Amino acid sequence: MCIFCSIIAHEIPSTPVYEDENYIVINDLHPKARIHMLVIPKKHIATISDMTNVDQNIVGGLFLIARDLAHKIQISGYKLQFNVWKDGGQEVMHIHLHFLAN
Ligand SMILES: [Zn+2]
Repeated sequence: MCIFCSIIAHEIPSTPVYEDENYIVINDLHPKARIHMLVIPKKHIATISDMTNVDQNIVGGLFLIARDLAHKIQISGYKLQFNVWKDGGQEVMHIHLHFLAN
């Protein structure tokens, strides 16, 4: 089981910023900005390249979670980023949207 699936299954303790039946949001352990959160689908999809057509809604929903977070924390701007594969900077092989803001 990957580390995010372990967090989702509560086998590894975490303090989620947000959680619902399909998504969990946690703070990045090694933040690259003042605010650096990871928006993670509970469904295990290894990389964006492993997405199938049935994953479209679940992946699209990551952006809606990010939108709602941005409204909640009242920032003036933010960046959203997917890293893909090891050479693209992906450290955990379970897709996650980086939410960055200063
Ligand atoms: Zn996983």
